[in-house]
Amino acid sequence: MDTESKWLERREDHYLKHPNNCPICDSENIDAVGMMQHSDVKVNQCVICCDCRAEWGDVYTLTAVEIKSYPTDLVLGNLKNPNPNETFKR
Ligand SMILES: [Zn+2]
Repeated sequence: MDTESKWLERREDHYLKHPNNCPICDSENIDAVGMMQHSDVKVNQCVICCDCRAEWGDVYTLTAVEIKSYPTDLVLGNLKNPNPNETFKR
């Protein structure tokens, strides 16, 4: 016997492995709605299913960062006055 909340929990687990399919009806006809909502530690993206009209929030957590460009003078300034709290060593 499955309660509704247990079923939903199983569907949420299933969705994490198949994020291109609606967690309720398995349709691939799903769409991200609006902008991502940022908080300090996580980002929410609202998604809807165009077939069964279910709505859910994809929750993202930051796992890594790659610095792509930066102001060189600021970096040189920081290297000359290293922050003792930083682990970075040259
Ligand atoms: Zn659906």
